[in-house]
Amino acid sequence: MSDSGFTFDGRLLKRGEEGYEEARVGRVFNARRPDRYPAAVLLAESDDDLVNAVRWAREEGLQVSVRSGGHSWAAWGVRDETLLVDLGLLKDMTYDEETGIITTRTAVRGALDLAPFLQERGRSFPGGHCESVGIGGFVLQGGQGWNSRSLGWACESLVAIDVVTADGELVRADAEQNSDLWWAARGAGPGFPGLVARFHLQTYPLPPVMVQDTWTFRVEDTAPVLAWLHDVLPGLDRTVEPVLAATRLPDVPLHPGVERPTGTVLLVHTTCMGDSLEQVQQRLTPFASCPAGLEELGHVRSQTSIPEENAAQAAQNPEGHRYAVDCTWSDASAEQLAPVLEELWRELPTQHSFSIWYGWAPTRALPDMAFSVEANVYLATYLIYTDPAEDEQMRDLVHSRTARLAALDGRGVYLGDTDFTRRTDRFLSEENYARLEEIRAVRDPEGRFVHYLVGDASQLNVHS
Ligand SMILES: Cc1cc2nc3c(=O)[nH]c(=O)nc-3n(C[C@H](O)[C@H](O)[C@H](O)COP(=O)(O)OP(=O)(O)OC[C@H]3O[C@@H](n4cnc5c(N)ncnc54)[C@H](O)[C@@H]3O)c2cc1C
Repeated sequence: MSDSGFTFDGRLLKRGEEGYEEARVGRVFNARRPDRYPAAVLLAESDDDLVNAVRWAREEGLQVSVRSGGHSWAAWGVRDETLLVDLGLLKDMTYDEETGIITTRTAVRGALDLAPFLQERGRSFPGGHCESVGIGGFVLQGGQGWNSRSLGWACESLVAIDVVTADGELVRADAEQNSDLWWAARGAGPGFPGLVARFHLQTYPLPPVMVQDTWTFRVEDTAPVLAWLHDVLPGLDRTVEPVLAATRLPDVPLHPGVERPTGTVLLVHTTCMGDSLEQVQQRLTPFASCPAGLEELGHVRSQTSIPEENAAQAAQNPEGHRYAVDCTWSDASAEQLAPVLEELWRELPTQHSFSIWYGWAPTRALPDMAFSVEANVYLATYLIYTDPAEDEQMRDLVHSRTARLAALDGRGVYLGDTDFTRRTDRFLSEENYARLEEIRAVRDPEGRFVHYLVGDASQLNVHS
């Protein structure tokens, strides 16, 4: 179709036209849909569409926003009076056996599309823990995926991008050319000043063995469980990924004859990948038994696979539900965190709501890229519900409780689990944020691409 002399292979739906509403929010994962209205949505079908989208927006005096997988909790791509470029119809992938690099569209889903494509070739990529997350937003903001403690943030495997700039030119950005855009693409997330047409991602040999180990504890045991985890974390092999999840779901591992307590229980769910079962079991030795005096409700260990783990995560994050989410990186001790976490975990308001402690230490020197904030542990809370009347209550709860945690020894946030319309914090180091703003000023002086979605712009990337 054509508009103002521009031709599009895909459909351009202007506000008020039939199909606009579905195009606006039909692919937004969070059922708490935003009250923001783009001037038009382009369902892009080709590289020419991406170039023409930016040129058309410039002609029309519109800003450009982008959607890949639609999984940003705050629906960052849905912005008022923009041209929203929806990439959902673009899914092609090609793999180069010589280099192990996959070239892929950004709306590809990490587990449902990318992982099986790579698995057939004996390769893997540290994709998201939930199968339907798009790799577009995921990689641009950092990307905390399976095996990220050993393979690093997903964006560290971003070798190059093909990107449409604010001038409407499709260019390659990598270590040698347009390297400022490549630097920004590794961590700027929804503040990236460009429209990425393709990622070029380094892939890795698929580890032949993956084991999961899960302990179930009472929520009353929050303090000793945290003490145990903080104690073993720094010494764990980097292929070992420990997560403590507070959950109210009924189906948890229990020893025979043990009854599930009502309300919240704690699951210490640890995964490890390696070359052999023996190697993985050896790496999981710190979880072979729990400390004396700590009584578990259940314990299971078994071989697993990324698809199985992804399916479990999908069940934990159901579609068609409303989500209020927040997070903080923390260097606080187990003693500091325990009382605040226990109170939060006891008051999880619905059966699906959950909250995690994710062991990240020891942190390491990161490559020179925009992504720059992490700490010893990652704390994130996901309130999951269905009644729109509960939106304000849920949002108040998640952001106020996360603020309490952040006040202990919070180091900032991971963009992936934020909603800056309610609570802001640092997501890049001050130095990297300043550098990103310089890049934006040079690459996109007219602000063609939307900036971060934030309630109070003066608080963007401010850590207190
Ligand atoms: C159920 C669920 C599970 C999750 N699990 C994880 C997890 O395990 N690990 C993790 O790190 N995160 C996780 N997240 C967070 C998720 O990675 C982020 O919300 C991410 O932004 C989603 O990417 P997307 O492409 O699906 O989202 P979108 O909403 O489509 O994109 C988010 C933003 O990224 C930018 N963007 C996307 N594509 C492009 C492009 N081609 N060019 C320019 N800008 C672009 C845009 O600003 C866009 O608004 C999860 C989210 C959900 C809903």
